Amino acid sequence: MCIFCQIIADEIPSYKIYEDEKILAFLDIKPVHPGHILVIPKKHAQNIEDVSEEDLTAVILGVKKMGKLIKNNLNYPSYNVIENNDSAAGQEIPHLHFHIIPRLENDGLNHWSHREYNPGEAEEILKKLKN
Ligand code: AMP
Ligand code: ZN
Repeated sequence: MCIFCQIIADEIPSYKIYEDEKILAFLDIKPVHPGHILVIPKKHAQNIEDVSEEDLTAVILGVKKMGKLIKNNLNYPSYNVIENNDSAAGQEIPHLHFHIIPRLENDGLNHWSHREYNPGEAEEILKKLKN
């Protein structure tokens, strides 16, 4: 059983915030800022392609609920919603989870760098995506 399935089953301790039939929201044990929340489906799914539409809907509605708590109860002005999809993207726990990361103005956390498209590159990518 994966570590998040063990948390769902109460086999290992966690700080649970909210749960219903389909989802669980709990504190990330190593927060970016205190109040960093993870939202997961109770039925094990590895990533966003693997999860059912019904469970994904429940998870994203849970993200919305938790986002409101971060603003209203913890008084953060903003948050990032991040889902690391597979290992190359930084997914360490192979059970789908959305991070809700509280943010403060000028908190020093930088987003990743980005670049311009080379000539013709966007058209090429678009062709592949629409194929
Ligand atoms: P990711 O890199 O997207 O797979 O993120 C995994 C997250 O799970 C990390 O931010 C960890 O701090 C968090 N994590 C790992 N183990 C636990 C645990 N037992 N309870 C709560 N959060 C955990
Ligand atoms: Zn699992």
